Amino acid sequence: MIILRTVSDVSRFVSEQKGRNASIGFVPTMGALHAGHLSLVEKAVSENDVVIASVFVNPTQFNNPNDLATYPRKEEDDFRLLAEAGVTAVFAPSVEEIYPGGVEAHAGHKFDLGQAAEVMEGKYRPGHFQGVAQIVSLLFRIVTPDRAYFGEKDFQQIAVIRNMVKSENIDVEIIACPIKRADDGLALSSRNSLLTSEQRKLAPEIYAALKDSVEYSLSHSVQATHDTVVERIDAVPGMKVEYFEIVDARTLVKIDEWEESPWVVGCITVYCGDIRLIDNIAYRLPK
Ligand code: AMP
Repeated sequence: MIILRTVSDVSRFVSEQKGRNASIGFVPTMGALHAGHLSLVEKAVSENDVVIASVFVNPTQFNNPNDLATYPRKEEDDFRLLAEAGVTAVFAPSVEEIYPGGVEAHAGHKFDLGQAAEVMEGKYRPGHFQGVAQIVSLLFRIVTPDRAYFGEKDFQQIAVIRNMVKSENIDVEIIACPIKRADDGLALSSRNSLLTSEQRKLAPEIYAALKDSVEYSLSHSVQATHDTVVERIDAVPGMKVEYFEIVDARTLVKIDEWEESPWVVGCITVYCGDIRLIDNIAYRLPK
């Protein structure tokens, strides 16, 4: 696996690959890799001639400075896992390489991300999706992939990135990949390593509540389904739901009745102590 540190390293590598007509799959990450990230890599490897992964903790998408400071970083392990998974090249730039002169010098452009960016994460993490759009669009322009792979754990992020690609006129196919979970159901996340062992034991209650609520939803209203999930999770010591919204999966607008949409997803954010975890579940899928 080739390690690329600079934009010009990537440009050179990409033009060599394009010169031989290779298709390029791209998996952007913030590192501290786990089997969730590797499932994206696996799919990318199976669908493209070469795969580029990026490892970059993007400062502009953190609205909470403490979250940025404590975000886990494990570059050596990440490179080993990516190489084992069959990645051709990893792009792991410095902050200065991506934002020359500092992040403030790059704050100008506002992305049109549509209504999908206004709700849920957009509401609770101001500026987060502008930061995501900024880094993902930059990486797309540097890497120029044919296909880019994203996890459904960040369900809203995929919708926002699709909107960004449209409004910025970037020619790339966005591929959504299913959530990878630990054996006890907890969605894999780099932030899980920040949980205490006690919190880690309790955290699977998030998915347990979501999963059980799918059957409950067949005979109960949207509001009752919402409430049963929130009450169950809030009853766990040290856990607090920040939001739980049951939405149309395409628009991310809240629904009041199950009949309003053929594709309905519940998106949740839970604080386990100071650690913020997200997850989601499908209540209805299009036939
Ligand atoms: P991150 O490093 O958290 O920015 O994540 C990089 C990519 O991996 C994003 O597209 C995430 O949605 C995806 N991802 C993270 N966790 C999981 C998971 N448990 N299952 C599937 N994809 C994931």
